[in-house]
Amino acid sequence: MVILEQARKQEQIFRGIRPEPAGNQVITKTPLENWIRQRLAVHAPLTSSAIAAYQLEKLKEVVAYARERSPFYRELFAHIGPMNSLADFERIPFTTPAHVREQGMRMVCTSLGEIKRIVTLQTSGTTGASKRLFFTGGDLESTIDFFSNGMSTMVEAGETVIIFLPGEQPDSVGDLLSRGLDRTGMKVVIHGPVRDDAAARAEIMRHRGACLVGIPTQILSLACGAGSDVIPAGWVKSVLLSTDYVPAAIGERLEKRWGCRVFTHYGMTETGLGGGVECEARGGYHLREADLYTEIVDPLTGQPVADGVEGEVVFTTLTRTGMPLIRYRTGDRARMLTEPCPCGSVLRRLGPVRGRFEAAVPLAQGLSLNMPILDEALFAIDGVLNFAAEVRRFADQDQLHLCLQVSGGEEERIAREAVAMLLRKEPVAPLFRQKALVLRSITFDTAGWFTTGTGKRQIKDCRE
Ligand SMILES: [Zn+2]
Repeated sequence: MVILEQARKQEQIFRGIRPEPAGNQVITKTPLENWIRQRLAVHAPLTSSAIAAYQLEKLKEVVAYARERSPFYRELFAHIGPMNSLADFERIPFTTPAHVREQGMRMVCTSLGEIKRIVTLQTSGTTGASKRLFFTGGDLESTIDFFSNGMSTMVEAGETVIIFLPGEQPDSVGDLLSRGLDRTGMKVVIHGPVRDDAAARAEIMRHRGACLVGIPTQILSLACGAGSDVIPAGWVKSVLLSTDYVPAAIGERLEKRWGCRVFTHYGMTETGLGGGVECEARGGYHLREADLYTEIVDPLTGQPVADGVEGEVVFTTLTRTGMPLIRYRTGDRARMLTEPCPCGSVLRRLGPVRGRFEAAVPLAQGLSLNMPILDEALFAIDGVLNFAAEVRRFADQDQLHLCLQVSGGEEERIAREAVAMLLRKEPVAPLFRQKALVLRSITFDTAGWFTTGTGKRQIKDCRE
């Protein structure tokens, strides 16, 4: 029984779901529920069916709106009949990042005079065009409102939030977050992405009991890198990690080192920066359901999958007027959780995002390697701050080469633990056991790797 319980906890940890707190600790319901209830103008307690009815109406509206105002959607929906049900909606073609890159301007539904911010995302690789996303003032306002409500799980009025995300430009993510926090009486320091660990730690030491918002590997470096002992355990109250996906092992290291609570947020520029955020139960993202309709589909067939089954995250913006995205394929891998949240909310929960489909490196025997499974094995090791991974082929064999960023001085122990973790920890171990992959080299680097978090960490596939 004890072993079963341990196995269940291990599985939860791998899936990024922290085991429920022991004893009779009260978990406060996500503040998003009350916010969404108000947005839906529901005066009784919110129900799933009220949300579903609201979303269907909004889906009809956004499809009609986009068809009327955007040349791109008019063409895409040319052969679509009237939309009366969710089944009708699920027959609508998907939109993709390629559409945004190549036809972004034609997706805009307002005059350019109404556009307040254009976000340009550089795409990796050599295929050219960047993605540009267009937001009106109203679109940005809705994101500020989400940030303001979502953050109230982590901080109370009068407390300080230090933002380690880009915030210099008006309407950038840090700026919008800061404006959301201002509304609820929180103190805000916009530090920006970490370029110098010592300066960032000095900022943290000026504010006892603060909440930090940042990029997972950067915050890990502040907590566990060289010089991190200036911040005592208990100094930081909470951390919100925000990117496309957050390794659960990083959250655990931070909690262990600082004794703080770690929350994660899911979102991308396309979702309007905010997408979903964990409640106090910290087991999956409660979604921004008044503004986004989220589906999980089979990445190959495009058919919706049942709740609980992993697939690709697809979302539709319900209220965005500048550049609505309809059935937009994110490439992110996740499942909709079926169990009710311990916080008691009726809002749906998206399980932890487990990387991207396109980023998986195919191996022999139908197996594949992706960043999240390496992350859960390697970030679990004390001293590992970041790593780069390459797959090369030599003599018909796929070989893994790792370069670990560490704070220095313990390379031998870390190398030993890395080998043990990779060969033992599920679900990465079977790749080595079945000889689909050979661990060829582990090297070390003590230089800090600066990343703004907008470039996604991925395995470099160097094979022909
Ligand atoms: Zn909850």
